[in-house]
Amino acid sequence: MDHNKLAELLFPHITKTPEEYMTTIYPRRQLPQGAMVTRFAPSPTGFLHIGGLFTALVNERAAHQTGGRIILRIEDTDKKREVENGITQIVEGLRSFGIEFDEGMLNETEEAGDYGPYQQSHRAEIYQAFCKSLVQKGLAYPCFCTEEELADIRRQQEAEKALPGYHTSYARCRELTYEQIEEKIRQGLPYVVRLRSPGKIGGRIKYKDVIRGEIEMDENVIDIVLLKTDGIPTYHFAHAVDDTLMGTTHVIRSDEWVSSVPVHLQLFYVLGLKPPKYAHVSPVMKEDGGAKRKLSKRKDPEAAVSYFVDEGYPKEAVLEYLLNLANSPFEDWRRQNKTADFHEYKLQLNKMSQSGALFDLVKLADVSAGVIAQFPAEKITADVLEWAKGRDDALEQAIARDPDYATAIFSIDRGGKKPRKDIRKWTDVHDFVSYFYDELRQPGYEMPDNVSREDMAAILERYAQVYDESEDKDAWFARVKSICEPLGFSPDVKAYKADPGAFKGHVGDVSTVIRVAITGRKNSPDLCAIMQLLGKERCLERMEQMKKALQD
Ligand code: GLU
Repeated sequence: MDHNKLAELLFPHITKTPEEYMTTIYPRRQLPQGAMVTRFAPSPTGFLHIGGLFTALVNERAAHQTGGRIILRIEDTDKKREVENGITQIVEGLRSFGIEFDEGMLNETEEAGDYGPYQQSHRAEIYQAFCKSLVQKGLAYPCFCTEEELADIRRQQEAEKALPGYHTSYARCRELTYEQIEEKIRQGLPYVVRLRSPGKIGGRIKYKDVIRGEIEMDENVIDIVLLKTDGIPTYHFAHAVDDTLMGTTHVIRSDEWVSSVPVHLQLFYVLGLKPPKYAHVSPVMKEDGGAKRKLSKRKDPEAAVSYFVDEGYPKEAVLEYLLNLANSPFEDWRRQNKTADFHEYKLQLNKMSQSGALFDLVKLADVSAGVIAQFPAEKITADVLEWAKGRDDALEQAIARDPDYATAIFSIDRGGKKPRKDIRKWTDVHDFVSYFYDELRQPGYEMPDNVSREDMAAILERYAQVYDESEDKDAWFARVKSICEPLGFSPDVKAYKADPGAFKGHVGDVSTVIRVAITGRKNSPDLCAIMQLLGKERCLERMEQMKKALQD
């Protein structure tokens, strides 16, 4: 068979060669040594799974921490999975979590970078050029088998207990002559182009996965489809071509692709190309009834990245938590670098979990509270305002009316060695700030149960007479102490503990009563600061209100 002639018959319109693509059109990247080129390659389904964000983050960190580049490539060879605006939704979803790409698709139609197109459906000619070169070398051939013929082969293989699939002598179209092929094409019969696999049954391959270490598997023997009947490639072939031309050094992708590695390595081999390094990321798991399972788009709302946006987890918190999941040494690093930006942490691919990291919403909330505790108050005001839009009108209006007042609220007890962790996510803010706003304030009091109603009323009565809003924290506390003794409370906790029978309670109980009057709660940030922010008039009014409530 004259393979060149066959290649011309199948691809008369293809004039460029793989060499031209590899040298002239997409020259090698000039990057510092050790720089990683990675890519995130979703289908344009619009849906961003938390596992996708996880993989994207690992790719982004690997590229940027080594001075490399990350590409966003859209894998749309399967048109069935597409949705309207699917690319834009993914780009925006990732951007809202701070994942920015150096190259690739920007929205449905625009892209940036010198190695495009970055959408596979626009690269048909490129794949065909590589496929043509394989046909020229006798390493690929057209296959006209219909569904019925393929089913027939399967039945035969079952009966003979042979390895299923299109391979070796079962690959009926392998031996078609040029004349037979030409005739079928003349008749307009649809065909795919298949790899003529050089694999041997029983053969094994080994490769070193960056995350999973050495892996040994059966060699591929299947004559896999390279181009479908419409001339569009399969995922496997597109992967080999794209990652070669885009200069990908590390393919960091979900571990569902591990089983395809033998096919991929074989494709690089027949194309005469050096494969990239592979790093297969385990899925994000969830504990369900004592068992571990993958987070499911269908069953778990938290599988969708949009869930975390709606729940008001700041993007920094989600990313920080994902880094915790990615690398167990991260937690230690964070303990030693409390205020550092997480970008300073160097992610280690070989320290990633091989069994699937467990996604835990309670731990996320914890991490998030720590992250928010480090935010400047101005950032909290801005982020909450943004989040509240369309989600919490009352909160949005309250903050928008006077952002400086909001910032003053968030400034209370912020900073310092042990910042408070009252806010885990933005949904907590409404309740957290409610007593600072008359319109958000909730009725009712969390009444202390160790002080009698009469004593509470007496405390409020007395305190209202002496409160001086100009006093700072120390003077404020001294003032609270000053009313203790006349009311039968101890101004000194130690003295109280030494002889509890001698007092009705201690200064802590007294300040709790005042706190409850002002905030409705037994616990709050610095009460002196809260009272200053509310202003004397409102504080006195609230003490009056509680006194009334005590009489009811
Ligand atoms: N398009 C593939 C997917 O949806 C990408 C796999 C890869 O990163 O190579 O999973």
